[in-house]
Formats: sequence, C-alpha cells, structure tokens
Amino acid sequence: LDVPHKAIKKICCIGAGYVGGPTCATIALKCPHIDVTIVDLNQARIDAWNSDNLPIYEPGLDEVVKTARNRNLFFSTDVDKAIIEADLIFVSVNTPTKKSGVGKGYAADLGYVESATRHIAKVATSDKIVVEKSTVPCRTAASMRKILEANGKAGLRFDILSNPEFLAEGTAVKDLDAPDRVLIGSLDTASGFAAASSLVDVYANWVPRERVITMNVWSSELSKLAANALLAQRISSINALSAICEATGADVDEVAYAVGLDSRIGPKFLKASVGFGGSCFQKDILNLVYLSESLHLPDVAEYWRQVVAMNESQKRRFTEHIISSLFNTITNKRIAVLGFAFKKDTGDTRESSAITIIKYLRAEQAKVAIYDPKVEESQIWFDLAEPGIVDDVTALKKQVSISSSAYEAAAGADAVVICTEWDEFKDTNLDYEKIYASMNKPAFIFDGRLILNQNKLEKIGFKVECIGRSRLE
Ligand code: NAD
Repeated sequence: LDVPHKAIKKICCIGAGYVGGPTCATIALKCPHIDVTIVDLNQARIDAWNSDNLPIYEPGLDEVVKTARNRNLFFSTDVDKAIIEADLIFVSVNTPTKKSGVGKGYAADLGYVESATRHIAKVATSDKIVVEKSTVPCRTAASMRKILEANGKAGLRFDILSNPEFLAEGTAVKDLDAPDRVLIGSLDTASGFAAASSLVDVYANWVPRERVITMNVWSSELSKLAANALLAQRISSINALSAICEATGADVDEVAYAVGLDSRIGPKFLKASVGFGGSCFQKDILNLVYLSESLHLPDVAEYWRQVVAMNESQKRRFTEHIISSLFNTITNKRIAVLGFAFKKDTGDTRESSAITIIKYLRAEQAKVAIYDPKVEESQIWFDLAEPGIVDDVTALKKQVSISSSAYEAAAGADAVVICTEWDEFKDTNLDYEKIYASMNKPAFIFDGRLILNQNKLEKIGFKVECIGRSRLE
C-alpha cells in the first residue's frame, strides 16, 4: 500500500473490555504521539480503569496502563466527545451469541456493534475511519457501512476496516507487544486503501512491517473466525483421542508429543483437557455454523458443529468418570474443585469448563468446595446461579462453598478435581502430603489439565485419574 493517506492523531476505542482495554492501552504506550481515549457505557468499568484496581487481570497490564494513563491514554464515559475528536475509531464491543428466534441454531448478537455504529453516525462531524475490532461474522462491514451512510451527516466519509484481535487472555500484554501478525482488511477502493495505510502506520510504530498484513475486508473478517475454529478443532481432536487413550492403554501426552513432532502438525494446542472455555471459541464456531447455514451449506455447518459437541462430551465424560470412580455415588460427598477461571492467569470465567462440571456435580447432590486464586466470589455465585431464579443463590450455598485456599477446599473431601491449570496447583507448588492427610480415604485426584506428576502423587497414597491416561494394566 503506497497511497497518500492521513496520519492518525487521535484514536477512540468504543468498549473498555478484555480486548479494547489492553489493545488500545498498548497502542497508547507504543505511540506517545497519538492520543487514545477508551470509552464505555459502564461507569463502574471506567472508574476501575482509572483506579489502581483495573477491571481485568492480565500479567503486565498494570504497568502498561500506569505508564500511559493521563499521558496520552484516557478512560471515559463521554462517548460523544471521544467520537467527535477521533480520526480513527475502534469498535471493540461485545458480540455474544443469541439463540436464533427463527432458525434452529445460534447467531451472533450484533446489537452492540450496531448501536455503537449508530452512535458514531449520529455524533460524527468529520470523516472517520471505523475499525471492526470485535469478532464479527463475515460481511458485517457491509452492514456497518450502510448504517453509517444512512445516518451520518451529508458529505462525511466513513471508511470501514477490519482489524481482528488475536490476543489470548492470560498472555494479552505479551501477544500485543509481539503479535504473530496484524491483519488489516479494507474495501478495494482508493479511500479503503488510504484508510488501511493510516492504520498500518500506527502498528508500524512497534510491529515489524512484514507482520502487518493487508487484505480484503471479507478475508480479514473470515480469518478471525477461521483461526479460532481451527484452534478449537485441534483441542476437540486431541480430546477425542484422549477418550480412545483411556480405553486402550495409550497415553494422550505421549501421543500428542509423537504427532506434534511432525512439522506439518506441530506441537501447540495439542494438550488434552476437560475442554476449552472462554468467551470466544464456542461463540466463534457457532457463528461459523450459522454463517454456513445461512449460505445453505448444511454439511459445512455440521462439520463445525461437531467441534462444539465434542467439547461438551468431554466435560460429561470427565464428570461421569468422577462419579463412577467414587463408587457410583457422590451424594453428600465433598468434592474440591481447584480452578474456576477458564484457563490460568486470567480471572475470566466466561464459558469455563468448571461451571459445567460443577453443575453436573451439583445435579448428583455432591457438596462442592471451590478455590480459584483470581476469580472473585461474587463472580462464582453469578456464574453458578440459574438465571431468573431469584433465590437460587440461597439453595446454591447449601451445596457449594468457596474456599480461600486449596488446602481449605480439600479438607474433608473425597476428591480433588483440577479444572484450571494454575501453576499454584502443580505438585511442586502445593503440599499434596498435607492435602492427602486432610482428605477422606481413599483420596482421589482427577487431573483435568494434565499438570500433575501421577507417580509422585500415587506414592503419597492418592488414587490419581488423568484425562487421556489409561487405567488398564
Ligand atoms: P467485553 O464484554 O469484555 O467488553 C465489551 C465492552 O463494550 C463492555 O464493557 C461494554 O459495556 C462495552 N459496550 C457495549 N456496547 C457499547 C456501546 N454502544 N458504547 C460503549 N461501550 C459499549 O468483551 P471483550 O472480551 O473485550 O470482547 C470484545 C470483542 O472482541 C468481542 O467481539 C470478542 O469476540 C472479541 N475478542 C475477544 C477476545 C478475548 O480474549 N476476550 C479475543 C479476541 C477477540
């Protein structure tokens, strides 16, 4: 792209969440010459971004925010002002899934994207580059353009770019500092290319130029869904193999190592587990399923649907194994669940496997004691309560307790269940002899993340059950 284009001086980011916050804080850190204002409708979230207690936990994020905040990084609820002043606006709002009212499946709920887009159209008084940062179905840029053109002031130009975010929670700061690639998609028009060039210049302040890739806007939108679908598919594939391992005597870690050495396959994302969680994988695959259905491609939809089905089956299989190991009944037995976040190094619990597993354990009348090093208590109650049942937390508290350490959770328990791979739970960091001494016997450990040394724990006396490892002699 070598076209005349304007230099970006002011950026606005609509949505101060897990993506908007870290992404635009990094831009502010790396580009002291650009003013960045991150806005949100949620006053409490903005107050937290302006405080010493940031609303999300990410290793290294405090430092990034503290360095740039009030220098060229601002957090505000004044959405109008930030839109009016900006040359470039990121739309980084949530895009949850919704049950389709007319079709059978799920669809992306683009209501937040639409209202942010309408907001831009309503208040903008100068030309804007509008950037999709949210993960959206392919062709959303076309809808945004129609909304902006129909509602914006006459004579204004809105250029739409797609710039999907590939950060992973837990390593967001590192991923943003040194991304594998940055995708910028634009319409194939002179002003689309100019807008893309302006955004390329922003990233070029710290990302090597060869990693900033430009392409057409539809390819860029689809690439984000494709990347998440392929990552989730690898997890479902290794989890499907883990079930075969358990039944045959193969060890899934050994199988993953062996196949990962093939350079065509590679070693990453081949860790068997209780299943993937997080706000993105399932949602983005369901988006792909919906997209395939609306394009009249039922076989393609079914193919991707199976990735999610396998993930659900893994959580059920794991829980069924806990029940059968505990002599086919867990009624009134105390089960310590270690880890509630969907993965380590984050306090995020969205779609966490722990939520589903605890629901299954509750349905079998177990007493569940939960410990997580980062997740807030209120979040745990919120996630476990049945929506709409006001009194559910009271019922819940008869069956579920929240502990302040792994030791407290395990005391008096029949089983410890590892749901999140926090380093704190490794056998090099927790005193498992102390845990064993405090538990009912036989004392079981179910390692849903393959983080424990099975031999070491068996020597202590535990009965250890690991995902994807055979119990056959
Ligand atoms: P989030 O829910 O943490 O944050 C979204 C924020 O947008 C909320 O604080 C909400 O109040 C705000 N918001 C909604 N509508 C608004 C409006 N009209 N004006 C101002 N603020 C508004 O969501 P997130 O995890 O940051 O995800 C945002 C997008 O990024 C989603 O599309 C998601 O799929 C995508 N994404 C997420 C991740 C991840 O790891 N979480 C990674 C890559 C991409």
